Amino acid sequence: MIRIKGLTKRFGTNTVLDNLDLEVREGERVVIIGPSGTGKSTLLRTLNFLEKPDEGVIRIGDVEVDAANASRKEQLALRRQTSFVFQNYALFANKTAIENIAEGLTTVRGWDREKAFAKAREILGTIGLADKEASYPSALSGGQQQRVGIGRAMASQAPLMLIDEPTSALDPEWIDEVLQLLKKVADERQTMLVVTHEMQFARDIADRVIFMDGGKFVEQGPPEQIFTDPKDPRMRAFLRKVL
Ligand code: ADP
Ligand code: MG
Repeated sequence: MIRIKGLTKRFGTNTVLDNLDLEVREGERVVIIGPSGTGKSTLLRTLNFLEKPDEGVIRIGDVEVDAANASRKEQLALRRQTSFVFQNYALFANKTAIENIAEGLTTVRGWDREKAFAKAREILGTIGLADKEASYPSALSGGQQQRVGIGRAMASQAPLMLIDEPTSALDPEWIDEVLQLLKKVADERQTMLVVTHEMQFARDIADRVIFMDGGKFVEQGPPEQIFTDPKDPRMRAFLRKVL
């Protein structure tokens, strides 16, 4: 489903992603953990060309792109294979909840407004915000805004969902409802790549956990193994800090 070969990204002399290889099966839920500044966000952002990789071949579904010489058209085709849940929600402030969810369906998929709104309304039900469809982001709690962000990602029905620290901008009181919703999405075997600092959540949803440090995948495995019997000393040190 996803095959990444030799993914490399540098900012100046700083090699942030160092020749990464990754394969993900359809329906697999992969969680990435690691200290801050190790390239987790950059990894997700290069996979949809929010950040252009320097080198590497990325295949998602039936779209394959060679980063070094990817045309604009290829980059957009790859981006359409993904949806993204951002740390800071990244909703349109001047659009209502339903408009935020329907936006990608009309602009990217070319659906007419009626069809897009019907789908968005269905999703508002799923995310528990049926009564908030006409609310602007400023009138929603942080947890509700992030649920709209997740709803927007669900609406796109992209093969791969990329989720970057979905709860780290939230006040503690809103974290649980967002994690509950993401568990529901994960239960549907949505293929996802999730960066999180919530270790219990990682254990709950991951088929595989990858520990990243210094732009490399240091250790990976099923959560029961990674969390109870980590091998690499950096991984152990990290877990001592966060658990
Ligand atoms: P993480 O998500 O693991 O905390 P990031 O992927 O955000 O890490 O960042 C990895 C490294 O890349 C950091 O050293 C960060 O300063 C650097 N970096 C990220 N984005 C940029 C950018 N746009 N320009 C320059 N350096 C960046
Ligand atoms: Mg990050």
